[in-house]
Amino acid sequence: MTIKTASVGVDVDSLHHYYRIHGLEESRASNAAWDVGVARFLDLFDELGIKATFYCIGEDLDLGDNRKRIREVADLGHEIGNHSLNHRYDLTRLSRDAMFDEVARCKAILSEAAGVDVVGFRSPGYNTNRQLIDVVEQSGHSYDTSVFPCTPYFVAKASVMAWLTARGKPSKSILGTPKVLVAPRQPYRMSPRSPYRRSSEGLLQFPISVFTGYPLIGTAFTALGRASSTLITQAATKFQSHMTLEFHAVDLLGLAEDGLDGRLAVQPDLRVNVTRKKNIFKHVLSAVSESHQFVRLDHLSSRFV
Ligand SMILES: [Zn+2]
Repeated sequence: MTIKTASVGVDVDSLHHYYRIHGLEESRASNAAWDVGVARFLDLFDELGIKATFYCIGEDLDLGDNRKRIREVADLGHEIGNHSLNHRYDLTRLSRDAMFDEVARCKAILSEAAGVDVVGFRSPGYNTNRQLIDVVEQSGHSYDTSVFPCTPYFVAKASVMAWLTARGKPSKSILGTPKVLVAPRQPYRMSPRSPYRRSSEGLLQFPISVFTGYPLIGTAFTALGRASSTLITQAATKFQSHMTLEFHAVDLLGLAEDGLDGRLAVQPDLRVNVTRKKNIFKHVLSAVSESHQFVRLDHLSSRFV
């Protein structure tokens, strides 16, 4: 019998990146995503006995004590993943050299700071293309996990971007291609022609899990609440032999509890109580652990045939 596996990733985007995505001036951005959000996720994973992957941005290591923190996260047995040097939403539109710099330099910086070899990549804003996948592979990564084949997310992102543009505050995000919506739902090797098509060789892709249109990600769990999130996740466990769940460090921050800048209320889940969110995530992850074994993606990719 094949063992069912699951992996949990946390994108550690510092708050600066949220100011940028919402077109806000960022001088009041704090380091709470790292100082508080990461610590809360570490506690949650410790309670549940999960080793996760923290996808980090190279430039964020220059803030506060983040260089020390990334080493602590790795020393606790979690994987460190590459989330690019500067989190540029237009990464897929850069020249090959600039793209290589964003990916390879970040890998080197994170590996050095954490004292481990970083082998997994998640692109900013889930946007990828053939050239970026080539760069990820040629810079020594063994897997990519940027594909997010979720129709409701794609539609919502398009609407928000159009709304911000209409208000004269264009988002730094980019929409990407709708071809992502037909990508395989289970781990696959990417075709030399398209990152959204399967082939027998090529770099491994672990697409972020979606079940009947519901993305298995932190913001969706918060929006749905504990009962619905757990039910959907339990249903997904019946059909998916591997699940890739995704969170962001800010998913465990609270606008009021953590004294964040009120303008961040544009990010609706920041208005939800932290204890409530932690409880939802705990139930969801516990539901997955009933049938699936949690594995770090770097470990899983080394056993993938
Ligand atoms: Zn990000």
